[in-house]
Amino acid sequence: MSLAAATDAGAQPVTRLTGVGPALEALLHKLGLECLQDLWFHLPLRYEDRTRVTAIADLRAGQSAQVVGVVEAVERGFRYRPQLKVAICDDSRQTLQLRFFHFNRAQAEQLAPGARLLCFGEVRQSAQGLEMVHPQYRRLGAAEAVAVEDRLSPIYPTTEGLGQKRLAGVIAKALALLPSDSALELIPRDLCATHGLASLRDALLTVHRPPPDARLDLLLGGRHPAQQRLAFEELLTQHLSLKRMRAAVQKRKAPRLAEAGGLREQMLESLPFALTAAQQRVDAEVRRDLAQAHPMLRLVQGDVGSGKTVVAALAALAAVESGHQVALMAPTELLAEQHLRNFRHWLTPLGVEVEWLAGKQQGRARDAAMRRVADGVPITVGTHALMQEGVRFARLGLVIVDEQHRFGVQQRLALHDKGADHARGEVPHQLVLTATPIPRTLAMSAYADLDVSTIDELPPGRTPVQTVAVSNARRAEVVERIRVACAEGRQAYWVCTLIEESEQLRAQAAEVAHAELSAALADCRVGLVHGRLKPKDKQAVMDAFKAGELVALVATTVIEVGVDVPNASLMVIENSERLGLAQLHQLRGRVGRGAVASNCVLLYQPPLGQLARERLAVMRETNDGFRIAEKDLELRGPGEVLGTRQTGQLGFRIADLARDAHLLPAVQQVGERLLAEHPREADLLIARWIGGAARYARA
Ligand code: ADP
Ligand code: MG
Repeated sequence: MSLAAATDAGAQPVTRLTGVGPALEALLHKLGLECLQDLWFHLPLRYEDRTRVTAIADLRAGQSAQVVGVVEAVERGFRYRPQLKVAICDDSRQTLQLRFFHFNRAQAEQLAPGARLLCFGEVRQSAQGLEMVHPQYRRLGAAEAVAVEDRLSPIYPTTEGLGQKRLAGVIAKALALLPSDSALELIPRDLCATHGLASLRDALLTVHRPPPDARLDLLLGGRHPAQQRLAFEELLTQHLSLKRMRAAVQKRKAPRLAEAGGLREQMLESLPFALTAAQQRVDAEVRRDLAQAHPMLRLVQGDVGSGKTVVAALAALAAVESGHQVALMAPTELLAEQHLRNFRHWLTPLGVEVEWLAGKQQGRARDAAMRRVADGVPITVGTHALMQEGVRFARLGLVIVDEQHRFGVQQRLALHDKGADHARGEVPHQLVLTATPIPRTLAMSAYADLDVSTIDELPPGRTPVQTVAVSNARRAEVVERIRVACAEGRQAYWVCTLIEESEQLRAQAAEVAHAELSAALADCRVGLVHGRLKPKDKQAVMDAFKAGELVALVATTVIEVGVDVPNASLMVIENSERLGLAQLHQLRGRVGRGAVASNCVLLYQPPLGQLARERLAVMRETNDGFRIAEKDLELRGPGEVLGTRQTGQLGFRIADLARDAHLLPAVQQVGERLLAEHPREADLLIARWIGGAARYARA
């Protein structure tokens, strides 16, 4: 069958299948499933293993399992909210608790002592032992034999009103109409051969209907060759679409920003330091881009403290000198304020005005700021809300976004449109700064639409931070260490990292630590900042710390970004075992900014799990943000490296950047060949994998 024939087969509407009438069609459309091909590529999110019954004694927390047990005891609680607790027991003579928060009377009556249940759910560890919260269950007859499934059950992404069984039935019907392998395949044969890509058709059939003898462990972990084959194609498609978007943006026009007035030299002269070689190189890359008549899309990455802000300020000057405006956005108010101070410090003496426009600003102050922006004030600093709230610029030429890893590709593209100057047909240049070093493999994939510059050198005179991990049992020694350090004129951070849902609980934990430290350091002042303070009060505390009036600062993780106090040389992180590597590295980067040798103490609550142990070991071994990011990717996945929101936005069906990073080099090679030699196949791949999802997003 020819390419056209396969496309035709896949392009048939879902109503072509028997049993799909208008009602079901509407539900499928809600999921972005319009044609047969959409159904073929609607892949299971995960699998449930109902191929066996697990003895309660063999259950492990974190695992999903099927158990058969008899109800021994039932307890109804009302303390905070209605609750039904059902204890079941099996032949292994162990008890498992089932917990329900929503239940009706009939259910409560059905779950009576003596009832025999078949349950499926995720096992969790609770204070009372193992439990399942809201398991799926069915009441069995006293002597009824338990029929287990002979293969894994796929679980598909679905929508309200469309059950798994019904959806699986429709997909099965569509799969019966799968064309031959050669007709389905969009990657040219020679490339498949070079990269050892197996049959796409077999891969689809396996993933939708794993045969009984397939390796369960591989399938459950997403590492089965069939899943890897599909992950490859999905990553390839993402790569192609980012490259396409990038090409589309680059076809647009942007103002040429080439400085002329000598402000740049003035600023460089006024700095108390010389740029590092890495800063100079990146600055040159940025300036070259800005001088082009098409938009720059550049990511500047550099470890904490590598000096990205100066590079951003120089780029801003180039825009200002060319008569254009600059918008600088940061993800938090605190970080935006830090930028505001730096920019004003450097640029006000040069006669360049810097405006402040933040989300919390209200009323007349806000109106006035908006007017100045509309009138053409050269530089505006604010939070990410800046671009979203109807702020009008007179002539925006450059958008600088800090900490972009919390941003998605779509948002990046939206920025272009928001800042577009329609009369001239121009869009602004975009400079993205990120303090989270991104491993190369990941950058290639998640940021294929951006050019990447790396500041791979720290300013001279920084001493690497010595890091130790200390058990909470030796807390008193750590407090004593702070006392000694403060007596020597050093300053310390004490970070409380309680991961609680509520800001209030976090603040309370910080208050407790603050009281403890204040008591121990009776003759010194200890400050406290947390997310519940008003911005003004927060700033006052930070200023006092910066001025050296406070010897120690107890903080929740609000200090994670944007704090720059070179005299602070001791960092204590509580409950460090609960944090990811990226966050630990960011926090530690707050010290080691001056010439004094700095120390970081990672306090932990024993016993340490395997993962936590490995993370703390990495922190002790290296200060190199790139090595840490690589490790992070290995240990915890891209959620931690890119920020969870971003990974969510990547919205892969089957690929997982951390698990499948080894595929990326080949993905890139195949991608380049397709774009250059097979543009039509590239289009079809994008339509296949992203077409449906794009419709879904619109719905
Ligand atoms: P980051 O890359 O983490 O955003 P910053 O831009 O905040 O780093 O810079 C960290 C500190 O280093 C600031 O105090 C800044 O003034 C200083 N700095 C930047 N570049 C240099 C340099 N070339 N030499 C010495 N200090 C520098
Ligand atoms: Mg910074």
